[in-house]
Amino acid sequence: MQRLFFALWPEPALRRRLFCETRRLVRRSGGRPVAEADLHVTVVFLGAVDAARRACCEAAAATLRPAPFTLTLDTVGYWPRARALWLGATQVPEPLPALARSLNEALAVCGFTPEPRPFRPHVTLARKVAQWKGAPAPAPAPIPWPAETLCLVESVTDPAGARYRVLRRWPLAGG
Ligand code: ATP
Ligand code: MG
Repeated sequence: MQRLFFALWPEPALRRRLFCETRRLVRRSGGRPVAEADLHVTVVFLGAVDAARRACCEAAAATLRPAPFTLTLDTVGYWPRARALWLGATQVPEPLPALARSLNEALAVCGFTPEPRPFRPHVTLARKVAQWKGAPAPAPAPIPWPAETLCLVESVTDPAGARYRVLRRWPLAGG
C-alpha cells in the first residue's frame, strides 16, 4: 500500500520563493516548518491505496481536461485543531475547486467517497504551532502560482514527519 494524494506541486523557483518569503513568519510561529521540498496544495487526499486502486486513480485523472489557472497566495491563516499555519488565497480561481470536484467525481469509480468538508486550498507552512495571533508578522506580498500540472504524490512517513514524492503529472490544458 502507498499513502497517496493529488496536489499542485510548485516548480523549483516558485517553491524557493514560497519558502523564503514565509520564513520569518514560520520562525515566529514557533512551529515545525514544512521543508521547502514539501510545500504543496493538496487537491484530493486518497490515503492508503494498493496497486490496482492506484492504477484506477491514474486512469481517472487522465480522463480530466482541467483548465489551467493562477492561484494568488495572499493570506496567512491558522487552524487551531490541526495546529497548522498556512498560506491561502482570498480569491480562489474557479478552475481549482472545479478540478477538485471533477477529480472527486472521477474517483468515485475507484471506490472513493469525496471528502465531506469544504475544499479549502492552502499551502501548509508549519505544523505543531501552539498558537498564532497573526500580528506582528505581516503576510508576505501576494505570490502568484500559475498552476500547470496536477500531480499524484506519495507521502512517506519517516520519524521526522511525512516526506513527499511526486509520482506522476498531468498537464492542466483545458478543453
Ligand atoms: P503528518 O500527517 O505526518 O503531519 P502530512 O499531513 O503532511 O504529515 P499526510 O498526512 O500524508 O502528510 O498528508 C498529505 C497531504 O494530504 C497533506 O497536505 C495533508 O494536509 C493532506 N491530508 C491529510 N489527510 C487528509 C484528509 N483526511 N483530508 C484532506 N487532506 C488530508
Ligand atoms: Mg497528515
